[in-house]
Amino acid sequence: MRQPDDPRCYPEPVVTRLLFPILAILSMALVIPVATAKDRKAKNVILFLGDAGGIPTLHAASIHGYGAPGKLFLHQIPNIGLSETSPVGAWVTDSAAGMTAIVTGQKTRNNVVSQSADAVPGKSDGAPLKTILEYAEEHGLSTGVISNTSMADATPAACYAHANHRRKFAEIVAQIAKPRFGDGVDLVIGGGRKGILDATKEAGHDFAGALTAKGYTLYDRPEQVPASNARRIVALFDAPYDPQPVVEKAIQILSRNPKGFFLMVEWDMHTDKLQRGLDQAVAMDKLVRKTAESINQKDTLLLFTADHSFDLRTLGGKPGEPVIPAADADPARVPVRVGTLHTGEEVLIAALGPGSERVKGYMPNTKIFHILMQSYGWKPNPSTP
Ligand SMILES: [Zn+2]
Repeated sequence: MRQPDDPRCYPEPVVTRLLFPILAILSMALVIPVATAKDRKAKNVILFLGDAGGIPTLHAASIHGYGAPGKLFLHQIPNIGLSETSPVGAWVTDSAAGMTAIVTGQKTRNNVVSQSADAVPGKSDGAPLKTILEYAEEHGLSTGVISNTSMADATPAACYAHANHRRKFAEIVAQIAKPRFGDGVDLVIGGGRKGILDATKEAGHDFAGALTAKGYTLYDRPEQVPASNARRIVALFDAPYDPQPVVEKAIQILSRNPKGFFLMVEWDMHTDKLQRGLDQAVAMDKLVRKTAESINQKDTLLLFTADHSFDLRTLGGKPGEPVIPAADADPARVPVRVGTLHTGEEVLIAALGPGSERVKGYMPNTKIFHILMQSYGWKPNPSTP
């Protein structure tokens, strides 16, 4: 081991002394164009959230979908980083605390939806944390949330609502019509129709009436969502749907605002049901690819990340063999083993467009919020009520 007085630490070779100024000048020349790229603002942000879409899931999805690792579109995006996802008071996050960190820049407790960490889940409120969607509303942008799970669930809810527990579905969806900034989220499109209608009915809320009074048109099938002559939509479904046409129409609607938009698209890829989870991961990857091809990457930041990883491990297998084990497979010899739990290791962040160069290295999940804010050119003012 070298000691501080070890002479080998000291002598500076002539080459180094000469190289240093040359490298300094070279790096200054290189820094200037990078700084200019960083100053490029995003007019629009599309945040893709792969729920439980950790790196092990993306790896297995690539083999499942394309027969080899590294074949997803997400694997081709040059600007990537790793997001540390732990919440306050635990190492492993749920979707509520995970998404809260991503959209507010502050970590909170599991089960808490965009409230500060002094919330007691299910018992008492913390302070509402201002979300990137609320900043976008405040700045006059159009906003939307899309998901293949319930629109009252933690991930979409953390964008537009604040609650001390993710299970307070009626309280959460009531906040669509009671925004704190702007005129509130403009597009809410996704699953959970029956659950949301049942929860609001039980709570005595006139969900449809409150939304209609605020200028929303309600739909119950994906194909009803219009691309034109619409601005404010709440579309809730129960059956699974193809995200591609829905996301395309949402981007058309949101793009009509000359100030820009914020859109969050969540795709659930929990692999506790392996086939379903990997199919969803491949579907979301295709969605990200098609969206990246269709948008103007000069003015739109597209960022993919996951709220947390999942207990999936590739333990074996080889080219030409499916990763989904046959029903009668020997459990000791399956290529992919899945558990039922979220896991705590870092997840991928991958980004394209203005601001995407800030996505590099390890970072806490809270930094994603700041990357989005900086890309829009906004400074956080969380004290605004
Ligand atoms: Zn999740």
